[in-house]
Amino acid sequence: MEEKGRENGVAAMKACYRRFDPAAYLQYNYTPPRADFTRKDSIVPWKLACLHRAFTEGDMSGELLVDIGSGPTLYQVMSGCEVFSKVLLTDFLEVNRQELRRWLQDEGQCSLDWTPYLQHVCKLEGRRPSAWTEKAAKLRQVVADILPIDVHCSQPLAPDALPSAGADCLVSCFCLESVSPDLAAFTRALGHIGKLLRPGGHLMLIGALGESYYFAGPGVKIPVVPLNEAQVCTSLKESGYTLIRLEVYTLTQDMRVGVDDVTGVFFVKAKKD
Ligand code: SAM
Repeated sequence: MEEKGRENGVAAMKACYRRFDPAAYLQYNYTPPRADFTRKDSIVPWKLACLHRAFTEGDMSGELLVDIGSGPTLYQVMSGCEVFSKVLLTDFLEVNRQELRRWLQDEGQCSLDWTPYLQHVCKLEGRRPSAWTEKAAKLRQVVADILPIDVHCSQPLAPDALPSAGADCLVSCFCLESVSPDLAAFTRALGHIGKLLRPGGHLMLIGALGESYYFAGPGVKIPVVPLNEAQVCTSLKESGYTLIRLEVYTLTQDMRVGVDDVTGVFFVKAKKD
């Protein structure tokens, strides 16, 4: 009976994603004011700074980085692509995998221009902004595949997708809390993705705090598990990770643009036990 309830909750969440609109999602979250590179207090520059620091502080090793629930976005691997020689992107929805493929194959017709993101990460790396073309080429070179994933399965990727030792590093942004019906499912999903990571490998987790819904297109309202920092820490511990660092960003009033009710964003760097 309990098992049936769990399955129903997960199935209801999956149904919400049928109308996910990648172009609208990008417009809502990845354009100004949330992605204003002239401001330090804008959400996206904050996230990029956290990722830059985490990937460059000298404790990363190995070859394979896997991004869990990439959606239609690429910002989350723009620092990691300089450290790991192979990157796998993953998402549940074909429309999102398609959006990523369009950029990677340089086919044009992308829903968002990633140039200012590439330029900003180049700046963080101490390179001239014009080096963005080299970074774009690097990203296109290291992304080896874009795979289907379901974090609610105990084996989220196809069995032969990864080497048997697992990935050296995982990154996952705004995925687990926005695809899980409740905190228990969020924690279970954290455990499932942990199976993809080698012991001692790093997890970079970015997510929403205090969020109960977001819009993924006009009228497409998706429920979210509202998390606080303590719950994130407990879930990590229960799922076999040791926390290295937790950073929190609190949204300013002008970042509350009516596309969700998020109050903050957390950034976690953790290690698999
Ligand atoms: N990572 C992106 C970002 O930082 O903006 C996208 C996050 S978006 C809020 C949540 C993503 O989770 C969507 O791309 C959606 O397709 C994906 N998703 C939905 N159900 C999923 C599942 N069961 N397993 C893995 N990913 C799922």
